[in-house]
Amino acid sequence: MPLLSIRNVSKVYYPRNQQSVLALDQCNLDIAKNEFCVIVGPSGCGKTTLLNIIAGFENLTEGSIVLNGSPLAAPGTPVSPGPDRMVVFQHGGLFPWMRALENVCFGPIARGQMTPAEAREKARSLMARVDLHDMEDLYPEDMSSGMRRRLEIIRSIIGEPEILLMDEPFRALDAMTKAVVQDFLLKIFDTSPHTIFFITHDLTEAIFLADKVYVMTSRPGRLKKMLSVNLPRPRTLDLVNASEFLRLKDELTDVIHEEAQKAFELGEREAAR
Ligand code: ADP
Ligand code: MG
Repeated sequence: MPLLSIRNVSKVYYPRNQQSVLALDQCNLDIAKNEFCVIVGPSGCGKTTLLNIIAGFENLTEGSIVLNGSPLAAPGTPVSPGPDRMVVFQHGGLFPWMRALENVCFGPIARGQMTPAEAREKARSLMARVDLHDMEDLYPEDMSSGMRRRLEIIRSIIGEPEILLMDEPFRALDAMTKAVVQDFLLKIFDTSPHTIFFITHDLTEAIFLADKVYVMTSRPGRLKKMLSVNLPRPRTLDLVNASEFLRLKDELTDVIHEEAQKAFELGEREAAR
């Protein structure tokens, strides 16, 4: 049984005084426990919409989502966020007024999941795993962007969510920092597996991280193609030059190119209206 099962999910937005927008059209996707699932697709195709529905920030219009055998979302049923689904946002979500350690401990203490002492102990051991052991008293603004991203990952896994939802989390990082943070994320994934739903528009990142890469169509978003990435783990950066890696990237580039072209044409038509 898949951990997360997305069945025929459609989403229509009804913006005030504007035409409705069909953002997702009959999406189907299963994610197995401890699978690293990556979604790629052209801008505006509905990736964030799908993540927001899983996270409980948006309702769906049609279809259903089942997490661990229990219905999570269905039409007309209000959904809500929960500690079983933690989100790492593109623009970050650390509390600027809290020090690093407090940021990591806040969620599980606030939810009554851990005592402050338990949370601090777990936070310290997780921070050490991403080389942040000396940073517990720093405020986010005193950390580099790469450190903040590592801290956010730790903060989102301390409460052991069922699934980690990541929406282009490394988009704003420079190439070097991105490589370092990807490496830390994979180290965590290799030593204590998690189920991850990860959105990116970076195809190298997609293949480097994923067990499976799903390509979404231009709007309305559907899941068009799935590529299995059977590259061995643990993965290191030199893998990006391996022939199988390059073959997968070629294949993915072709599919994406076709969709990007369609998205561009859709944009042109809408602009001309
Ligand atoms: P992506 O993350 O793939 O770039 P989004 O999920 O953000 O795409 O958006 C998908 C489509 O839905 C876009 O056309 C976007 O303009 C539209 N959309 C997103 N959020 C809303 C909203 N709250 N109201 C109306 N339209 C929206
Ligand atoms: Mg988005």
